[in-house]
Amino acid sequence: MTVIHKIKLKISNCYLVEGDKKILVDTGSPGEGTTIISNLKKIGVELSDISIILHTHGHSDHCGSTTELIKKHKIPTAIHSADSHMTVNGKNDFLKTTRLIAKFIKPFVDKPFPAFKSDIFIDEYTDLESFGIKGIIHSTKGHTNGSISLEFDNREAIIGDVMMGGYMGGEFFPYLPDYHYFADDIKEIDQSISKILSFNAEIFYVGHGGPINRKQIEKRFKKSSSR
Ligand SMILES: [Zn+2]
Ligand SMILES: [Zn+2]
Repeated sequence: MTVIHKIKLKISNCYLVEGDKKILVDTGSPGEGTTIISNLKKIGVELSDISIILHTHGHSDHCGSTTELIKKHKIPTAIHSADSHMTVNGKNDFLKTTRLIAKFIKPFVDKPFPAFKSDIFIDEYTDLESFGIKGIIHSTKGHTNGSISLEFDNREAIIGDVMMGGYMGGEFFPYLPDYHYFADDIKEIDQSISKILSFNAEIFYVGHGGPINRKQIEKRFKKSSSR
């Protein structure tokens, strides 16, 4: 059975996923490579044990330390093809805000990051089996075009920035789901939220705060989609 370890970084989370192999999902903001490595060590995992780095999407707070990590140890990296240009440029696409407060948060998160070119491009329903993990990759766009979610065999999922848990990077009420501060297309976000609720999962790990359970998501999003 798959085991997910949450690694809390400055403003975002990354995840070690253990199955037949070990994969890293996301790498936080620039300059967090050492923190990630020391957190892996605490779990008893070396960077050289990681078979692939998967990115939930192409933003600087999720791809920021990939270059630092792969310089220390050569690990293949993967991202959805629709987001790969951001990692090649080391720059987020324009961040469209979902509400007023996001405009104040934007300068703190919208930073350039060390660029890299991914080795593997992910398409919808790619099986995670080839990465040694029992699970499926789904396209869950809306936050960005290339946003993906990972559904595992243990009734848990990693959904990136489809939504966020709590406020201010999950510092407050991390278990409470809400719309993310930024979204390219809010209608697609609503479709992606319906999609993740169709997963056989009870626990949803997010890019900020969390984890969030199914009941909380249904309570927040099912009846109304008011922001
Ligand atoms: Zn993001
Ligand atoms: Zn994020």
